[in-house]
Amino acid sequence: MRRARRSSDLPKFGYHVSAQGGPALAVRRAAELGLDCMQLFTTSPRTWGFGELSDEAVAEFRAARAEFGIAPAVVHTIYLINLASEDEEIRSRGIHAISEDLLRADRLGCEYVVTHLGSARNLPDWQARRKCALGLNRVLRRAEGTSPMLLLENSAGGGRVIGRDFAELVRIALDCRYTDRIGFCVDSAHSLQAGHDVRTVAGIDALIAPIADDMGLERLRVVHLNDSRTAMGSNHDRHEHLGMGALGRDGVRAWLHHPALRRLPYILETPIEGEGDDARNLRRARQLAR
Ligand SMILES: [Zn+2]
Ligand SMILES: [Zn+2]
Repeated sequence: MRRARRSSDLPKFGYHVSAQGGPALAVRRAAELGLDCMQLFTTSPRTWGFGELSDEAVAEFRAARAEFGIAPAVVHTIYLINLASEDEEIRSRGIHAISEDLLRADRLGCEYVVTHLGSARNLPDWQARRKCALGLNRVLRRAEGTSPMLLLENSAGGGRVIGRDFAELVRIALDCRYTDRIGFCVDSAHSLQAGHDVRTVAGIDALIAPIADDMGLERLRVVHLNDSRTAMGSNHDRHEHLGMGALGRDGVRAWLHHPALRRLPYILETPIEGEGDDARNLRRARQLAR
């Protein structure tokens, strides 16, 4: 198995890898790509059901990670979650889904669980925020005693989607009883799509200022490094190959050279439309990071 060595002055790079066939195979795919870190789903992201995660699968995953030295490993929750839903059934299912992933990530030894919170739809903002904070209380109560940090990811902001800026996510985290368990994940494409001009270091600084000011930048733990297929402010979440979208090469470079971000793991979620797209994006990221 090929494993590109990371030169020490480069940041850590990872990809969202498929866990088809079991989580241990995701680690092998990551190692084959020469990744330093990785992200995976523990279940199909478009369904509510969680299949069994056997002790054997957990042991294989842990052994593979130790063998290839992939760290950190990030679990991304399913796409159906809406903690602000007025439908209590939907809301409860979302609470269950996030806590289930915290429990699974804990068994697997993953460091982080990344999630989106949902959409305010017809609710006033304050009420949607309150539902999210109370929902997170239930999530973290159910997952009490687990160690992965729960990271709230910013969104592209379409409709009434929650998390178009970090001020909103920080307020939710501060209103939650388990604030200490909560951190943040910043997605470069979502940031631009939500209308933040994050093509420069100063623009990125403005985006993450609410985290720095109110909770401390050490709460920012993971970067999703994607270019955007849609324009700045589009509110439309479509990822693009690095350097080929609205962020562009200089924009991607700003993300890779921002002093606070550069010490964090960069996870790519760029499109895989043809053979080798993942390796190509990874090469480009490492080039632009030099
Ligand atoms: Zn996400
Ligand atoms: Zn993302």
